[in-house]
Amino acid sequence: MTVSTAGPAAGRDAATVQGEAGIENAQIGDFTAHMVTLRWTEEDGWSGPRLTGHRDLSLSPATAVLHYGQSVIEGLKAHRQPDGSFAVFRPDAHARRFRESARRLSMAELPEELFTEALEVLVAAEQESLPDRPGYSLYLRPFMFASETNLVPRPARAYTVVVISFLIGSYFGEDTESLAAWVCRDFPRAFPGGTGSAKTPGNYAPTMPAQQAAARAGCHQVVWLDAVERRWVEEMGSANLFFVRGHGSEQVVVTPPLTGSFLPGVTRDSVVAVARELGYEVREEPVDVADWRTGCEAGLITETFGCGTAAVVTPIGRVRDGDTEWRVGEGGPGPVARAVKERLLSHHHGLVPDVHGWR
Ligand code: PMP
Repeated sequence: MTVSTAGPAAGRDAATVQGEAGIENAQIGDFTAHMVTLRWTEEDGWSGPRLTGHRDLSLSPATAVLHYGQSVIEGLKAHRQPDGSFAVFRPDAHARRFRESARRLSMAELPEELFTEALEVLVAAEQESLPDRPGYSLYLRPFMFASETNLVPRPARAYTVVVISFLIGSYFGEDTESLAAWVCRDFPRAFPGGTGSAKTPGNYAPTMPAQQAAARAGCHQVVWLDAVERRWVEEMGSANLFFVRGHGSEQVVVTPPLTGSFLPGVTRDSVVAVARELGYEVREEPVDVADWRTGCEAGLITETFGCGTAAVVTPIGRVRDGDTEWRVGEGGPGPVARAVKERLLSHHHGLVPDVHGWR
């Protein structure tokens, strides 16, 4: 199932590094052989990127991030192109978000050219060492943390950026399974004025109990509502949400507007463009969780799907909200999700002209 999984393949040893078992035996989920490091200090600014083998970090127990959590992450992909090379998808948009996340936490901001250069160095090194098999894409994980050795709770004066990557399937030509979503009513993920739109680990750790509750309810993913009215649908797990409303010439594709309390997904932005390319009308409109249910029950909402770098496009087949459960459409992948996914993958893999400058 191509359910949002931003980590190495389930059930495999996450510590496996491609190359340990021999490059020919590299498997989906393996970390690739290299990593890139950059450093920032108040005195000297940025240094790097430096390419090394994928290896352990050595940290003082007084490293600031371990105590006060100044850390940001990104997640993006490099896809095989028809000529066998890899192309990183929308590195500029991810570079911008990395800076914005860092700014929210008063961390050093990595210039966008350095972010892109670091990815280029890593991808070039992997390109050399990876078998030229078309089924692989690379998931790239840049992250930055406060690496100053100091227990004073103030913005750190030294940061380290590392980019690692692992192999993922390309999903091209595969049909998508739909998943079950669980609406979290116990607590919100983010709140107005908080850090919800930053990609920082502190937004993920508190969601773990909700993930466990969703799994206990037999669901794959958590749907988050706004913190104030507990009414507006915001996002799902590591994905933004789209809804297909109406039929025929009345059909519209709807996604909640960016409120600042959920992540402005790069895929969300791409899906808006791709859906328009396919001729759909796309609107940013708030979606009331009660209307989601009644809309599905009345046949007015025919599809809901999540989208994200890892999730690509993942349809939702059923939703559980407390003791209530409803089906979306026929419960399987709908035609809009299928068409959007196929077109997005064509952009990833260089099979359509790069009219947006995404590769
Ligand atoms: N929301 C959250 C909380 C996420 O972690 C992600 C994955 N980065 C997304 C949405 C989708 O964002 P993107 O399309 O940029 O991967």
